[in-house]
Amino acid sequence: MNKPLILVVEDDSSVKNLITTTLKTHEYRYLSASNGASAIMEASSHNPEIVLLDLGLPDMDGIDVIKRIRTWSNMPIIVISARSEDSDKIDALDAGADDYLTKPFSVEELLARLRVTQRRLAMMQNENSGESSVFRNGELTIDYAAGCAYLKGAELHLTPIEYKLLCLLSHNVGKVLTHTFITQKIWGSSWDNDIASLRVFMATLRKKLEAEPDSPQYIQTHIGVGYRMMKVE
Ligand code: CA
Repeated sequence: MNKPLILVVEDDSSVKNLITTTLKTHEYRYLSASNGASAIMEASSHNPEIVLLDLGLPDMDGIDVIKRIRTWSNMPIIVISARSEDSDKIDALDAGADDYLTKPFSVEELLARLRVTQRRLAMMQNENSGESSVFRNGELTIDYAAGCAYLKGAELHLTPIEYKLLCLLSHNVGKVLTHTFITQKIWGSSWDNDIASLRVFMATLRKKLEAEPDSPQYIQTHIGVGYRMMKVE
């Protein structure tokens, strides 16, 4: 099997070295770019499996790099941002990034994000190859055609909004969805009170879905950012 090719976009050479050394020792192949223009060029000419993208680049905004790549590709993009760029991180997710890492990060965090993204890629490829309209994740099954969800084979009694939320998260398994993205999809707007409602619906959905709602297995909370459905083994 081919080792996955990762494009590392980072202008800070010490961070870049940390990332590329980690990739090397964990059997990834990599390419690197230190500005936005060369990132776009490398992404288009080498078609990497995953892009690790620093948001603060010398020549252009990392968010514009995401927008450009999204005009031709859905390749997973993991954003790397400094803590001071928190609102940029949310803008980046809304622009189509899949996940994020906040500086400073550990090697373990980096590898965990890559694994989540690889599982998401594998799942997307399965979905594209199969004609099945049934989603399976751990003990959760969603029959999209029938409009029903099951946990351990027993039907979950969900309200229409809880079901919509569950479907939205499942269609994007492994990907962090921002509050704005979710409320836009569910209610068509993203006012503050929609985000408050989202929190309420998410709590009731979790009560039905999670064995332990306080340490959820399926739906992860990203405080101040949004939610993500995890791929459960
Ligand atoms: Ca930078």
